[in-house]
Amino acid sequence: KKGLSRRVRDLKPSPTLAVNAKAKALRAKGVDLVNLSAGEPDFDTPEFIKEAACKAIEEGFTRYTPVPGIPELREAIAQKIKAHYGLSYTPDSVLVTSGGKQAIFNAVAALVEEEDEVIILSPYWVSYPPIVEICGGRPVVVNTSEEKGFEPSLSAVAEAVSPRTKMIIINSPSNPTGVVLSPEFLKGVAHLALEHDFYILTDDIYDLIRFDGRAPFNVVSLEPKVMDRTLIVNGVSKTYAMTGWRLGWLVGPEELVKAASRIQSQSTSNACSISQKAALAALLGPQDSLKEMVKVFRRRRDLMVSLLLEIPEISCLVPMGSFYMFPNFSAYYGRQAGGQVIDGSLAMADYLLEEARVACVPGVAFGEDTCIRLSFATSEEEIEKGITRIKEALAKLS
Ligand code: PLP
Repeated sequence: KKGLSRRVRDLKPSPTLAVNAKAKALRAKGVDLVNLSAGEPDFDTPEFIKEAACKAIEEGFTRYTPVPGIPELREAIAQKIKAHYGLSYTPDSVLVTSGGKQAIFNAVAALVEEEDEVIILSPYWVSYPPIVEICGGRPVVVNTSEEKGFEPSLSAVAEAVSPRTKMIIINSPSNPTGVVLSPEFLKGVAHLALEHDFYILTDDIYDLIRFDGRAPFNVVSLEPKVMDRTLIVNGVSKTYAMTGWRLGWLVGPEELVKAASRIQSQSTSNACSISQKAALAALLGPQDSLKEMVKVFRRRRDLMVSLLLEIPEISCLVPMGSFYMFPNFSAYYGRQAGGQVIDGSLAMADYLLEEARVACVPGVAFGEDTCIRLSFATSEEEIEKGITRIKEALAKLS
């Protein structure tokens, strides 16, 4: 019997979705579990967005749409980028996708050839390396560390560039660290891309979940010379608490976006017609729910940081965006409980699940074994309970 393709043989399911599924299953069994692994807002989609979707169904807006999306949504996305970043894109430069993840996939598939190299900054979002690999490319990981604020040095990025470099993937604010990359770093990356002729994919999915009150910026708004070699990814999943609606977009040079659209036309066709109407309402409607959500996330962040810093030997950067933090647990590695040695983030996350009944994601999934990702997309009570339990479980290690 012939086997699986090379493409899928070594492909593992997304570890973040797996942890979340395990946590949900334990809860369903009645285990009193604190889930700090969520990759999505715990808020419900705002009512007016749901109403727009209901209206779309009632009006029979239930058929295929153009593959790149309905014109009014493409227009609204272009306007959003103009309003937030001051960048002018035509609606033809916008491809509406089934989530930001598909936007990344289509962009990589449209550009990356066998053996092409794609620079990825670690800690990275879990899906970047596998997406590059599925498309036949080679991820080239540039490491950084907590002491450096999880921003790599430009010289490390420059060293990773080779004649085969086709693209760099940037994510700011970052999942898993919550770090916003500095304008100096982003400008430096832009200049490297111009000098060495490679593309930039900027994943801006958390751009409006920011706690510093500053307007969002990305590599193109800082250095417009890279506009013709940059692809912007975003979507409604995080900003409008719409993860299940599967609606995102890719924005960039028309020729590249058209190429990505051809891939989409031969795979999934248009994003869900109803979700497109919902996303249109989200972008054009009042932004109060978003503002309120960011306020709540900020309070929870402050709570989680202050509780974490009470635990001896844990260090943690204060996230500037997203709803994650990435504390360093490595001082506890090498210690043991009941004969079991905690030898890294996987063992630590397992221990915290078993002993503390707290679900979190091991840093190794993001390419950084010293840390554990904790999500504050949950209530203050759960955060308090979760971090207290972690503290007690860590104190039992010897
Ligand atoms: N990019 C980053 C950094 C993410 O964290 C996520 C979701 O977890 C995505 C992209 C994809 O989001 P979606 O496909 O729901 O739009």
